[in-house]
Amino acid sequence: MYIKEILEKYKDKKVRLYLDMDGTIVDYDFGNPDNYDTKRPLMERINKLKEIIKLFDNVELYILTICHKEKNVLEKNIWLDKYIPEIKKDNRIIIIRDVNGSKSSGDKKRDYFNNLNTSDTIVFIDDDPRILKAVKNDNKNNVIIYKDSVLSD
Ligand SMILES: [Mg+2]
Repeated sequence: MYIKEILEKYKDKKVRLYLDMDGTIVDYDFGNPDNYDTKRPLMERINKLKEIIKLFDNVELYILTICHKEKNVLEKNIWLDKYIPEIKKDNRIIIIRDVNGSKSSGDKKRDYFNNLNTSDTIVFIDDDPRILKAVKNDNKNNVIIYKDSVLSD
């Protein structure tokens, strides 16, 4: 299904649209977590999101992304300021994950959603099936999940 059709269904609701970054709005550069500013933006998708901001007053955009180091938080923010500054600073959830820790990225994102206290409709878009599965399997806030391809024409 296509993102605009999905959002059309929730027009009478307050919607939080959560977006992953790597592989969803940023070209996934395997094994290169550094030099974030040089990462290629997926412009077709970013332009679609900018269109959504204009078309849907009831939809608020959020980022939900994982990184490994403190410095990556800053780099991801710089990237967002450059390509999609429309997403407010407060709406950028950038979680640092200890690579040696027991929690996977999927666990971290699921925990974030399960700790949310909101009555808003939550839509979450990610490119990683393991993450989508983790959120789907223990879903206390009725998060509506979609693969990143919903953003493409
Ligand atoms: Mg991803």
